[in-house]
This record gives sequence, structure tokens and C-alpha cells, in this order.
Amino acid sequence: MTTMDEWLTHLIDFLSINTSNPPGRNYGKAIKFLAPLCLKAGLEIETVRIPKEIIPGRTNLLAHRRSPGKPRLLAYSHIDVVPADEGWKPFEPRIKEGRIFGRGVADMKGCIIAFLAAAHAVKDQPWSWDATLMVTTDEETNQKAQLEYLMRERIDGLRGATLLDLDSAFGYVSIGGLGHVAADVTTHGVSVHSGISHTGINAIEKATAILNALMELKKKVESRFSKVPTNPEIGIKTMQSKLNINVIEGGLKRNIVPDGCRIEIDRRLVPEETIEDARRELEETLAPLKKDIDFTLEFIHATPGYGAVSESAEKMGRCLEKVTGSGKLYAIMGSGDLLATVAEHGWQVVGCGVGRERESNFHGRDENARIEDIKAMSKAIELFLTT
Ligand SMILES: [Zn+2]
Repeated sequence: MTTMDEWLTHLIDFLSINTSNPPGRNYGKAIKFLAPLCLKAGLEIETVRIPKEIIPGRTNLLAHRRSPGKPRLLAYSHIDVVPADEGWKPFEPRIKEGRIFGRGVADMKGCIIAFLAAAHAVKDQPWSWDATLMVTTDEETNQKAQLEYLMRERIDGLRGATLLDLDSAFGYVSIGGLGHVAADVTTHGVSVHSGISHTGINAIEKATAILNALMELKKKVESRFSKVPTNPEIGIKTMQSKLNINVIEGGLKRNIVPDGCRIEIDRRLVPEETIEDARRELEETLAPLKKDIDFTLEFIHATPGYGAVSESAEKMGRCLEKVTGSGKLYAIMGSGDLLATVAEHGWQVVGCGVGRERESNFHGRDENARIEDIKAMSKAIELFLTT
């Protein structure tokens, strides 16, 4: 058995621990499982109990290989996985045709093991980084407050650090993601029986004017492209701004004029756009409709976008190219809590992973990763840590 085979066996064991979130199962068991593996990889471990005022019952793990004076590296990971239907035995991992199947292998237990295997392989060599691995919880629901606590109280050397985000995909280095503005427009009407609708105000019918205005704005928004490249496999060459209406809710019964209709706006921002600009643009688009329609616009949540080619990302590109023959740098067309922290601390983002976007079924049935990709990613991380 080679050392890498040993790590793949550890991965199978790790995948057998059901860390579904929600609700956040077996976190303690998963941390207890990983702690000795971090030691085996030559890292010093520190368990961090998240204060119960933030969230009760959460322990995170920090694993260090400190070399003061060298550039700071924060490797990010999470142990939770999205829940799975029982149809495919998600927590009984199996190997078939060169792939490991199991919930979380691509997102993202496979890359935690790839990192630890890499750290282990270069345990006796000097590293080019002052490194800390963060093993966190609740990424699949909401870990914003937990991340803020770790950054504020428990992790030093944040300014200008390199973030090795192990929660990304295989085949390229990811260098950022879209910002996000979530907003709701609710129209207000007067509910009456359908037969005397002329005495009421139909909130759904009023919402059509709002929708039309938003569809006009969509054209304008989606004509904006960033300078930052994205994976051309998805059909665009650089990041694109987005405006989508993905949920509409209103009405009670066929014969009742509705008194409310809520439209959910999902706005994605390229790094060149600010949250404030996107908010103002929505307000200005809808403001002229105020004279005819009673509606409210509410901002639910926002995270900034980020995307830049950095020295660290280029370095990982070279490491990946050495191992796989290709080391492109792309921003992903997704958003996340982590990106807010990135912007705040001026980090260089280097994202990598072991799952392939088009075949690993992230979050789906038969989630899988190629064994060769896990090995290749681990090899690339080895080079990244030591060169
Ligand atoms: Zn993930």
C-alpha cells in the first residue's frame, strides 16, 4: 500500500461519517477523526469551540504549520455536507471505475484529504508558507458568524494573506466569484371576491408592471461583462452580471383577488460592481412605478464579488500545470460568505478542489470524484506548499 492509498482509505472512512447539514450531524465525530490525521501530516492542532452565543455545540479545528516571516497561507475547508436521499447509500462510499462515490467527496472532504496527504508528503521539507488549515462547520447553511469569530478572535496574520480555498473545483485555479444582492419586491393590494374585483386591487396584476421593469433592467445588467475570466465551458469567457427572478409568491384561491405578491430578485455582481450601485439601480428602476403601485422593496442580504489574478494564484496555476498539463485561472459564477472576508482583508484567492463541475454531481445523487484527480490535486498542493 502506498502512502497515497493510505490517505484514500482515510478518505473512505471520512466519507462514512454522516455530517449532513442541516441539521449538522456528527461534527464532533468528524473533528475527532481529522485531528490525528492532521498530526500525522505534521501539523499542530488547536480545537476552537465556537462561543454558544454565536451558535451552540460547534467545534472547529485549526491545524498549523507556522513559519513566522514567510507569507501567510490560510487553507479553508468545511466538514459539513448537504443532505442526501437514501436511494444511493450516500454514506457507504464505494469505488467504481476509478472514482470514489459518496456524499461530500467532491464538496469537499476529498480536498481536505488531498491537502493533508500533501502536507504529509512534504512533512520533512521546508514550506514556503506560514500556514494554517481551517476546518470549519456549517458552510452549507450559514457560517458567516462563525467565520467572523475565527477571523476576529482566533486567527492572526490576516492582512494580505493568501487564501487557499479547498472548496472549489478541479481543472483550473479559481480566483474569485460573483457578488450577491438578494432583494424582495412585494406589491400590496386589496382583497375582494373575484366577482366584484373592480372594488379591489389585484396585487398580482400590479406586479406585472414591476416584472416588466425588472426584465428591462435585466437586459442592461446582463450586458455587463467583467475583465475577470471565467470557465469558457459554461459558455461565457468573462464573468457576467446577472439578474434573475426565480421565485414569485402570491394569491390564495382562484376566486379571491390577491392582496399581496412577492417577487424574489437574485442579483449577481461582477467584481467591478459594488453592492451600493446594485441597490441604487434597483431603487431607481422601480421608483417611477411608485405613483401607480403600492409596493415595498426590501434588501435581504448582500455579499461583495471578488476576482483578481494574483501572484499566489499564478503560482498554483504553474503547480497544477506541472501535474496535469493545464493550469488556467478562472473566477467561478457563484457567490459565498467567504468572499466578503476576502475583500475585507485584501487576500489573494487561490481556489482548488477535486470535483469536476460537469461530472461530479456536487450536492446531487452519486456525488463522485476521480481518484486520479484527488491524487493530482494533492501533488499540485505539495508543489504549492514547498516551492
Ligand atoms: Zn463546499
